[in-house]
Amino acid sequence: MPQPHVLKPVPMFADNYLWLRISPAGAVLAVDPGDYALLSQVLQEHDWRLATVLVTHHHADHCAGLPELRQMHPGVPVYGPESVEGVTHTLYGGETLDTGDTGIWQVLTLPGHTRHHLAYYHESDKILFCGDTLFSGGCGRIFDGDAQSLFHSLELIAALPDDTQICCSHEYTLSNLQFAQHIEPANIALQNYRLSCLLKRNRDEPTLPVLLSVEKAINPFLRTALPSVQERLAELLPDSAKNPAASEVFAALRRYKDDWKPPVR
Ligand SMILES: [Zn+2]
Repeated sequence: MPQPHVLKPVPMFADNYLWLRISPAGAVLAVDPGDYALLSQVLQEHDWRLATVLVTHHHADHCAGLPELRQMHPGVPVYGPESVEGVTHTLYGGETLDTGDTGIWQVLTLPGHTRHHLAYYHESDKILFCGDTLFSGGCGRIFDGDAQSLFHSLELIAALPDDTQICCSHEYTLSNLQFAQHIEPANIALQNYRLSCLLKRNRDEPTLPVLLSVEKAINPFLRTALPSVQERLAELLPDSAKNPAASEVFAALRRYKDDWKPPVR
């Protein structure tokens, strides 16, 4: 039996993850190296070799480590969108990327959070590095992207196999789940999932990766076609359009969450 690759979220900054996937021979694929010193420290600690870098989008917490990384590892390819400075191989989405030891990746274009945003999907191991597109229990805020694009990007993610492991770039899960419960107070799967995440965070463990099947059961942003979510939103926003399309419900839900504050206990 060949040894499996290891998937490792490394906490970075206040609530980011630097995702690593390590081959049995110690070759590392790193996603969104916002902090090069942290990456370098982890590589040294384990005697791992940096082999491939993937970048999802241009926000500094995802790519600020690139200048130093390029200096220290001049031969390592850095894949990412055009909008990211420091990329050695520009991608546009739709490519298949053979990174040798660190796997074959499908490049998806998932705009919405930003206008240019890529994600990387490993078809045989069913791993998705989705940057700031989807979070557990929530989704990215809209910066230079737009709600329609983000809605379609989440639809693309939802079309992947249910047992896909979703590797999000931030540990926002508990606060997202508070909002999710505000939208779907009667969702039992959501209540159970929140308990399991509370236990993990109490032990200082990541809540990620999360299975797509779980997200489909608990994430209101993937559930905007459901009457229960639509009725709840109509109740919260009585002036909204009647019989809205799922994409309109999504846009209204995204706007509503931008201004939502959890109740003070
Ligand atoms: Zn971002």
